[in-house]
Amino acid sequence: MEDDEGVASRGRAEEPAMMVTCPPCRVCGNQSVLDGVDALGYLEWSTLGKEIQNALPQLDADQRELLISGTHAHCWAALFGPEEE
Ligand SMILES: [Zn+2]
Repeated sequence: MEDDEGVASRGRAEEPAMMVTCPPCRVCGNQSVLDGVDALGYLEWSTLGKEIQNALPQLDADQRELLISGTHAHCWAALFGPEEE
């Protein structure tokens, strides 16, 4: 077995990640913690005002909503009803 160390690993696995405590959910009051958030992207969003979907494209929409408002997807659904497509 050969190890292809260092090959084809550009830009992966070495990105600094951080744990972010979200604001309290406006519905249930619980705070979520997101782990593994890209630290650079988080800084770009939180301090530089970059669009969160551009700064943190690896997060899904529910995770972005948690960072922005702390509100859980299931709590939104309880407030506004299930989303229809
Ligand atoms: Zn909630």
